[in-house]
Amino acid sequence: MQKIRDYSSKFAPIELHTMANFEFDLLIVGAGPAGCTLALNMAGKGIRIGIIEKDPSPRHKICGDALSGKVLNVMKRIPGNVYEDFLQQVEKIPSRGIRFVAPNHNEIDVPFLLHPDADSPPPGYVCKRNDFDRFLFEKLMNYQNIHVFEGERVDRVFHHADHVVAVTQNHEFRGKVIAGADGVNSTVRKFLQPGREPKEHFCVGIRGYFENVAGLHPENYIELAFLKSLLPGYFWIFPSTGGLVNAGFGMMQNRVSKERINLTQKLDELINTDPFLAPRFKHARLAGKPEAHRLPLGTHYLKRSGDRFILLGDAAFLVDPFSGEGIGNAMASGEISASILEQNFSNNDFSAEALLTYDARINKRFKQEFKTMSVMQRLAGSAKLFNMVVNKARKNNDVRELLSSMFTSQDVMKKLTSPDFYLKLLFK
Ligand SMILES: Cc1cc2nc3c(=O)[nH]c(=O)nc-3n(C[C@H](O)[C@H](O)[C@H](O)COP(=O)(O)OP(=O)(O)OC[C@H]3O[C@@H](n4cnc5c(N)ncnc54)[C@H](O)[C@@H]3O)c2cc1C
Repeated sequence: MQKIRDYSSKFAPIELHTMANFEFDLLIVGAGPAGCTLALNMAGKGIRIGIIEKDPSPRHKICGDALSGKVLNVMKRIPGNVYEDFLQQVEKIPSRGIRFVAPNHNEIDVPFLLHPDADSPPPGYVCKRNDFDRFLFEKLMNYQNIHVFEGERVDRVFHHADHVVAVTQNHEFRGKVIAGADGVNSTVRKFLQPGREPKEHFCVGIRGYFENVAGLHPENYIELAFLKSLLPGYFWIFPSTGGLVNAGFGMMQNRVSKERINLTQKLDELINTDPFLAPRFKHARLAGKPEAHRLPLGTHYLKRSGDRFILLGDAAFLVDPFSGEGIGNAMASGEISASILEQNFSNNDFSAEALLTYDARINKRFKQEFKTMSVMQRLAGSAKLFNMVVNKARKNNDVRELLSSMFTSQDVMKKLTSPDFYLKLLFK
């Protein structure tokens, strides 16, 4: 007899036998931010949910650990005091702005805009993914309709006329519909939406935790250093909990492959020789090993639904192509999918046509934003342009304020992608 931790057992004990079959209404593969947000938004709705996660908790996730206002806004809308409990219970560092470092090493501090009205995005946080993901994961255990299977890797997914099947080493899970929230290398995507995945739509990031990094901002601003050798990628320095700093960089994957860049060596080289970084890391010590992983960028369009399946978060290529932010978007896809699936369950219709509504809502939410951000990504490839913007912003209050509002306003973001803006900037 195989032992699986089923946290719902306090409500509904399940006997698990080798090669047992389990039947649910909704199968969710992956208990990261996307999968947990979907499950929590469907909690208490009478829909039996089986959430299948390959790693034991606390699972390990390579990340910069920055939580933007997007994450907090989605959390506020999850039922069951999730936001309030996050504020009270989870160890984290609040951050009140961003320090941009231009390729010429000029810096500018941009505070997050805080409006007095209730809808204003709160400042961001830096929170280790172990802590953040465990917090969301543990929330699942409060609900009778959510059954969590840990340490179960889905290897195969099959689609039938009236159900879907996810197969792990020892079990078969059946559902009316399946949500692939299983990250960048999604098995659900590979089986149900196979296709070419071009390298130009992936970024790779490497990060390490460091002690004793000098020169951190007194209000924990996160730092993005657009170093010439990384453009359009950047080096980040994020003040974290336990006196550590999460630092690393991201680069386009096709460049890393073409130039055969060894990311660990490059990290070492940058912190020891780059004139901006070397003085900051002179007395720094690495805690543990640096680790790298891929980010699937929103520049890649794929259909995110089909007969009896939907894709969420990284599995659905929802990472911001300019900033590399993916947690907020993954959670937003969890929230959107919950509202769509509720309708599907009430109509008992999980056909490709019915689930197209999910694609439409995802496109409505992200298409324009990703377009704008991919223009920003291209512009960030120009060191000269970047230097000019930061130089002007250092001298001109209007430009600084514009940059400050770019994180909350899509209109401002659009403005920043217009050639007209840069022409006018020349004469400011
Ligand atoms: C180096 C780096 C730095 C980053 N920095 C930031 C940042 O600072 N801020 C930010 O917002 N985003 C950042 N991101 C992006 C962010 O980490 C992801 O976008 C986010 O984790 C996506 O959430 P998700 O739930 O879609 O996927 P994931 O967090 O990857 O969760 C997927 C889950 O599915 C499970 N799983 C996978 N395969 C299977 C399987 N076959 N069977 C069962 N379970 C499975 C995994 O174990 C995992 O728990 C960074 C990414 C990288 C690589």
